[in-house]
Amino acid sequence: MGVEISEVISNEQNTPGVWVMRIRTPPSLKTFKAGQFANVYLCPEGADQNNVANYIYARPFSFASAPNNGHIEIGYKVAGRFTQRLKTLKPKDKIGIKGPYGVFTFDENADKDVVMFAAGIGIAPFLSTLHYATEKNLSNYFTLFYSNKTRDEIAYYAELEKLKAENPNIKIFYTLTQEEVASLDYGRINLEYLQASIVRGQFVTSVFYICGGHEFVGAMTTMLLAAGVDAKRIKKEDFGKLPDN
Ligand SMILES: Cc1cc2nc3c(=O)[nH]c(=O)nc-3n(C[C@H](O)[C@H](O)[C@H](O)COP(=O)(O)OP(=O)(O)OC[C@H]3O[C@@H](n4cnc5c(N)ncnc54)[C@H](O)[C@@H]3O)c2cc1C
Repeated sequence: MGVEISEVISNEQNTPGVWVMRIRTPPSLKTFKAGQFANVYLCPEGADQNNVANYIYARPFSFASAPNNGHIEIGYKVAGRFTQRLKTLKPKDKIGIKGPYGVFTFDENADKDVVMFAAGIGIAPFLSTLHYATEKNLSNYFTLFYSNKTRDEIAYYAELEKLKAENPNIKIFYTLTQEEVASLDYGRINLEYLQASIVRGQFVTSVFYICGGHEFVGAMTTMLLAAGVDAKRIKKEDFGKLPDN
């Protein structure tokens, strides 16, 4: 199927730099897997939004919502021209969408113990997985390391805390790189920190998921390989050149 025209349900600010958009689910996205993404399309300003041929600007965005929950949610960091435009959309505005794509998917049968690393808006695909696992009452175990510059920049904080309260199999380590806050960890995620935070056996048995900007994904991969983790047990989604945390 080609680009489908859908409708914005809501578009709200979540942190100073991150916005969350809900989109009416088009027929082709009634099913997708947690961890996948869609290409989102915009028209040039002033173009007819009912003509699908006008949807010429595209960027990929991970689903932040669980599959089959009545709407699609994306969380986006406002950066360049595309996301600046995205921010201006209002409920009932039209938007183009095509997908699902991607292999950064959560395998509930194989991945019983999951260790996740997210930087900034790299949290998006993990939210989909954590919502999915919680809604389905899965027994899979999740340890999330979530890096941000400051406390204010932790996207989806309230939602993550709610998931943690609902699902005893979710453990979250928030780390800040540019602000010291009493209840949160300070500094970049490195091997020493990881060794102190997970149990030794997890380096051998867990499946490691990494998502964020290019530099963060590279740094976490290097760290895990140095710890002796088998490359086959490392899954990555590289969002490209985003400011790192
Ligand atoms: C698999 C994958 C998943 C991703 N998931 C996410 C996610 O969940 N959240 C997230 O924040 N990022 C995600 N990203 C990154 C995201 O796709 C963008 O790269 C990022 O948001 C940067 O966008 P930008 O606004 O800086 O766009 P820019 O790179 O600055 O946009 C430039 C582009 O905008 C378009 N453009 C030009 N003029 C206009 C105009 N007038 N109006 C509109 N567009 C115009 C053109 O296509 C141009 O190439 C993901 C990336 C990948 C690869």
